[in-house]
Amino acid sequence: MLSYNVAALLRSVPGTSRTYPVAVESLSIADDLKLAAPLEGEVRLSRTGRSILAHGKLHTAVAESCSRCLTPVAAPISVEIDEEALPLLDIDTGQPLDTSGEPDALRLDEHHELDLAAAIRDAISLAEPIAPLCRPDCRGLCLVCGADQNDEPGHEHPDDEIDPRLAGLAALRDQLSQ
Ligand SMILES: [Zn+2]
Ligand SMILES: [Zn+2]
Repeated sequence: MLSYNVAALLRSVPGTSRTYPVAVESLSIADDLKLAAPLEGEVRLSRTGRSILAHGKLHTAVAESCSRCLTPVAAPISVEIDEEALPLLDIDTGQPLDTSGEPDALRLDEHHELDLAAAIRDAISLAEPIAPLCRPDCRGLCLVCGADQNDEPGHEHPDDEIDPRLAGLAALRDQLSQ
């Protein structure tokens, strides 16, 4: 799952590529970031003279809360990944290759497996929307009482009910809604 055995690809001529469909039911991303839909798309792996290039186009949705009314929403996201992975072992002899020149490079493992899960997790984390909305015109919560103004479109309070500490916010709200 999100890991590809590229032994055959390593034995093919540079320029050879293979495309794999991706359909993963769930993938844990981070403690505070969960997927709300399967991860789908495709990954293309290409042999270069020295490495395997991975290009992935994937889409899913992440579980968020509306930034105005706090309703849970599934925010769709699309991510692309581009990775270059170097072999760990010589594909013909099975001998370890010298990795000291590029210690930070992404490496295949000793079974010539390319694991893209970490790269995909990172890409999804970076694509997390900053201010997701349940719908473009969400009215948000009332600043005074916290009522969901989507449920009560005409909702308002006489001015004397407003807590003085919130008066500044109420004034700002009135400005913004003009
Ligand atoms: Zn909302
Ligand atoms: Zn209210």
